[in-house]
Amino acid sequence: MAVTVGLVAQIIERIAPKSWAEDWDNVGLLVGSGSAPIERLLITLDGTLEVVEEAKAFGAQLIVAHHPIIFRPLKNLRADNAAAQVPLRLLQHSIGYYTAHTNLDQSPLSSSRALGELLGLREMKIFDEPEYDLIPIQKRGEARGYGVSGYLTQPEKLGVLWKNFLERLDQSGVYAHPYKLSGVRLAGSLEKDVRKVAIVNGSGGRFVPKALFKGADLLITGDVDHHAVLDALEGGMAVGDLGHFLSEAPMLQALYQYLSAEKALQGIEIRVSLTNQPPWLV
Ligand SMILES: [Zn+2]
Repeated sequence: MAVTVGLVAQIIERIAPKSWAEDWDNVGLLVGSGSAPIERLLITLDGTLEVVEEAKAFGAQLIVAHHPIIFRPLKNLRADNAAAQVPLRLLQHSIGYYTAHTNLDQSPLSSSRALGELLGLREMKIFDEPEYDLIPIQKRGEARGYGVSGYLTQPEKLGVLWKNFLERLDQSGVYAHPYKLSGVRLAGSLEKDVRKVAIVNGSGGRFVPKALFKGADLLITGDVDHHAVLDALEGGMAVGDLGHFLSEAPMLQALYQYLSAEKALQGIEIRVSLTNQPPWLV
């Protein structure tokens, strides 16, 4: 039986149901047809023109992305509208575009969990309420929520912890490709003892108050603005900002492994995009 776009969607929604997505989000199949057969599939965080060209060169019929390409109202498909170029090119090449966004963030495939495991956090729990105990991946679909929090086995100095963490990020296989660790920032005292860590991938700046409330010594996230960092420091919490891309890229590898392990998809070729890279140069 041929693998279709719809089958891939079904398999992803088994672990990250569409109903979990926020009201403001735009998830599911955004371009293409559910009944289209596929032989090759490209996984990416962002749907850029480069990624579409990569999908075409690879011979992919479907892009599975984290970020939606149609998000802010798209009012036309004109050649001179920058926001319309990716959907137009997808249509030209007959490539479908499927998004799992805030539903994937809350699923067992979230990069917060991969990063928490990389740090060796104990008593790891879902960060955003309701605070379920982290449920093993075999019971997928049951645990839901943004981010994780947990404890280091023993207190570590912030400076040492961060240096080791970045080194491990590079070597651990948490990323599908060896990305340049650009745009990474750290705020706080390097001598500070860290015991409790909260991790929220993506734009986690809005979780600063909650992380403070929960007594985290360090919040690792993706996008934090100036005032959120000041609030964190004021409350005695350090902030590690990996940048949006690097905080979410572990999700690509998790999704790749999840889809590759799926029996029904054995006949298709799956790849994680190489052209989708962190946008910051330094
Ligand atoms: Zn994101």
